[in-house]
This record gives sequence, C-alpha cells and structure tokens, in this order.
Amino acid sequence: MAGDLSRYYEVKRRDGAARIGRLITPTGRLQTPALVSAESGIREEIELINVDSPAFAALSTKDGWNSPRGTVLLPEVHPLHHKQRESPLYVDVFVIGFASSMLKTPEAFVRRVIDARSEIPPDVALWTPAIATPENAALLVYMGVDILDDINALIKGYSGIYQLEECELRVSELEELPCNCSVCTSTDVSKLQELNADARAKIARHNTLLLERELRKIREYIRTGTLREYVELRVRSSAFLTAALRILDTKQEYFEPGTPIARKIAMKINTMESLRRIEVRRFANRILARYAPPAKRILLILPCAAKKPYSSSQSHRRIINAIRDYRGHVHELILTSPLGVVPRELELVYPAAFYDIPVTGYWDAEERAWVASRLDAYLDKNLGNYDVIVAHLRGAYRAICESVTEDKGIEVIFTCEEQEKEHSEEAIHRLRSCIANLCATSKESGIRTGVVKAMADYQFGIGAGDELLRGSTRVVGKYPALRLVSVTGDVLARVVPEYGLMALSVAGARRIARITPYKVEIGGDFIPKGAILAPGVMNASGEIRPNDEVIFYSDRVFGVGRARMSGWEMVESIRGVAIDVREVITL
Ligand SMILES: [Zn+2]
Repeated sequence: MAGDLSRYYEVKRRDGAARIGRLITPTGRLQTPALVSAESGIREEIELINVDSPAFAALSTKDGWNSPRGTVLLPEVHPLHHKQRESPLYVDVFVIGFASSMLKTPEAFVRRVIDARSEIPPDVALWTPAIATPENAALLVYMGVDILDDINALIKGYSGIYQLEECELRVSELEELPCNCSVCTSTDVSKLQELNADARAKIARHNTLLLERELRKIREYIRTGTLREYVELRVRSSAFLTAALRILDTKQEYFEPGTPIARKIAMKINTMESLRRIEVRRFANRILARYAPPAKRILLILPCAAKKPYSSSQSHRRIINAIRDYRGHVHELILTSPLGVVPRELELVYPAAFYDIPVTGYWDAEERAWVASRLDAYLDKNLGNYDVIVAHLRGAYRAICESVTEDKGIEVIFTCEEQEKEHSEEAIHRLRSCIANLCATSKESGIRTGVVKAMADYQFGIGAGDELLRGSTRVVGKYPALRLVSVTGDVLARVVPEYGLMALSVAGARRIARITPYKVEIGGDFIPKGAILAPGVMNASGEIRPNDEVIFYSDRVFGVGRARMSGWEMVESIRGVAIDVREVITL
C-alpha cells in the first residue's frame, strides 16, 4: 500500500505556506521541514513504495502509465493521483517528480510547488528531491516544501564544489575555509584541494552540515514568525531566487489564506519586496472594506512615528496634547509607508503597531505611488465624512498629500513649515491655533470607544463594533489594554496589545454571532476542552486565518477560541489542532 510510506503527518505550526510538522515513518519520526539523508530509510521506503507497491503496480498496469522510478504522485499530471483519502494512493508525503526541472526557470521553480500544493490536502508533506542547497532551502520551505534531502549536497561535494549560504565555490579556488563546521575545523584547505576520495567525502559532509544548519535556522524562523524576513535576505545572493520571490509575491491567493492575522513580533520592512507582503495588502484592503470613520468634522492627517503605537511616541504625544480639548471634533489619520493610511482607532492592530521601516526622509517612487494610492482611495470613500482637512505634514508626506488632494481639487490647511519638525514648539502652536479656530467648542475625544468599535469591525466585519457596544457598555482599563464591559460588569471583549488583536468572551461572542462570518461548526457529540481538532470541525468560514479569534458552536455548546489554522484547512485536514479553546458553555 502506498500508505505504508509513512504512518502519520501532522502540521503543528504555519506561517504563510511554510509549516512545521511531524512525520512518523516506519523507521522513526522527523520534524519538518526536514532534511532526509540519501542513505536513510525513508528515502528507500519512498522509492520502494512508489514503484514496487502492489497497489501502485496494479493501477499502473491497468491504466498503462509507465512511471519512471521515483516520479509517482506528481499531482498535476499523474492520472493515478487522487485527492480522496480513500484512494489506495493516498499518502502522507507527496514527491514532485523530476524536481530538477524546477531549476530551469524561476517560473518553473514557483509553479511546480504551487501546482502540487494546491492539489494535495494541507496535511500532506511535500518533497522536492535532489535540488535543495543552503541557498535555496529557505525559499523552498517558504513556498510550502516540507522535505528536503542531501542529494545535491553530496553530488556537489563529490564534484569538488564547496557550498555556502550565498554561493557555491570550487574548492580549488579557495584560499581558506570560510566555515567552522566539524569538517572545516579539523582539516585545512590544501587537504580538501587534493580531491582524493577522502577530500571529496569531506566536502560533501561540509555541504550537508551546512544544509542541516540552514534547516534548523528555518524552523526557528517559522516559530518566531520571521521566515519572510529571512527569505528576503537569503534570495538576495541570486538573481534566480530573487526573481522567484517576485513571482511568488504575485500569488497572493496562494499565500494569503495561511498568513496569520496577527503575530507578536514586528515585521521588518527593509526591502523593495517587503512592500508587497500579504500583511501590507490585507491591511490596505480592510481599511477600505471594514472601516468606517467616526462622525468628526475635521480630518487631521499626521506623519507616522517610529515608536508604536504611534500615540506613545514623543511627537504624537505633543500633537495629541495640543489638540486635546477639541479631539472630539478631530479625526486623526496617520500617513505611513508601507501601510498607507492608519486611522488612530486602528493604531493598535496588527500590523499597524508591528512594523519597522528604515527612516531616511527619502521615499522611492514606488513607495510614494503606493502610499498616495491608499490616501486617494481613503478620500474617495470617506471625504463626505469631513468638513475640513488639516495636514500637519512636511517633506515627502506633504508632497504625497498635495499630489492626491490637488488632483481632486480638495483644499487642505497645512500647519507645518518645511524646515521645522512636526513636534517643534512653533509647529505645535500653529496646529493648536488652527484647530481651535475651526472648533467653536471643546469636545471629548471618545477615542476609547472608537478603538473598540474600529478594532471589532476590522477583525469581525463591519457592524460587529456596533453590536458589541449596544446598550450601556463601558470601556475600562488603561490604554492600550482596554476592556469592554456590559452594564452587569461582564467583560465582553478586550484588546490584546501584544498581538494587535481583540479577544472575545462568550458574552461578547453572543452579541456578534449573528453577523460575523468568523464561525466554526463542530460535531455535536463532544464538549471541547483545551483544543478542537480538525476532524471535529464540520464547517468553517473561508474567512478564517491562523490566529483569528473565532466562535465555535454545535447543538450542545457555544464558545470562543483562537484559530490555529485557516478555515479551509480546518475543513480539509484530518489531523492537527484547529482551535485553541478559551471559553465554552453548554447549551
Ligand atoms: Zn564547513
């Protein structure tokens, strides 16, 4: 049976298409992404089962498919491939046949993996034989490959090629060994250059050790949520890999469902490719689809600050202090790269409070165009909300604001001079007088309620905020750790600043259950404790992403928890934790 290939595969953690999993084979267990050895049992088992298994042989003969050794289960072309778990060919590992053809072009490199992954169930491991190098391993895993092997490392080593993370060198060209692995510290370059059997074996061993180290790093970066940053760094040494990443960045529909809705670590926006991250595009989309500004007549556009949330920065504290008496009339909108526009009420959400970008005062053309397009779209949708626009901006920020508003024929009052800092005394004074002149009376900001409403809409869909705030609710707690409590004192929801998310209680979930799509129907025969596993899920919304706050229910129970996988994965998977349960009640 093809099923003998491995006994079990379970995905434990996800980030985009990359995963950490556990593969149990007849000869042991592996943590994926895993490096399998050309000499290890698993590879023999895979070849044996792929080609010699009675089920496979019978089907091959019957369908007249003459499969070369080691090339079965190529999902996009193999006529025997079946997605159904009942199929005799259902396995826990899929192998991409002739993976070496992926190295022909960056397009092929990307397409072969995406085609395979899109075809096989999510809780099946994917292997691209004989192509892994320390240079491409991170991108392979980022694309969704779970198993790499040392075949390329061995072949290159025996050919006298010494691999590094950023290149391959002929050992004959080296003057010293730029590595401190156990091989390189116990020999010297002249010995390896003899290229006898012993030297070749040692180079191969160095190559393998380097690949092993790379895999350990990659697993760590999946755990910390920083694999994307590492991939951007790693592809930089190769035009082929950089091209592959740029092509991947056009495949948003492939990566978006697996990309967590929040992380507890800041994104580093240090390259041109960082601007195209899923998180950036998702935020921009939600500002248009899931945000309605509060009814305030003055729009005040502000520059971003390096410190997050922005309101904790020195410059924003001075600005807020200056307009404090009138804040109830003023809606604050922060202009920033790469997120575009961030309403003050959403400054705590992921990724608004979770990104770092180098600040030099210089903005490149693509960055300007992107941020301008976000302001343009925001004004198109919300201009009618305001009577007047004030912009406390200078430099590139002001240029962007002018380019957008002049095109639309919108008048803007600028309150900052080119040569002064936004939080200088003169600028702050000018801003305060301007706002005071525009407002006849002072008015409280209502910012705390605004944050709860905006975050709920952003996370659960438009309308969720109003449902949560219905009746005599109060927002308590010290900003940013806000809690929404009902008139009876029950906590309905709380802001979790560490993740940039809002968490619901059962009482809060009941208020929004009717209108939010973030729901999971579970089997009626159990009361979940701790975790809900994927087989217990009957139905889940396609909107759900890893780390989303979700409501689950059956005829017997109702509860809230944190999604560990996306909605489609909950439905398609037969293993793995779908939801971490926080609170549950029986009906
Ligand atoms: Zn070494």
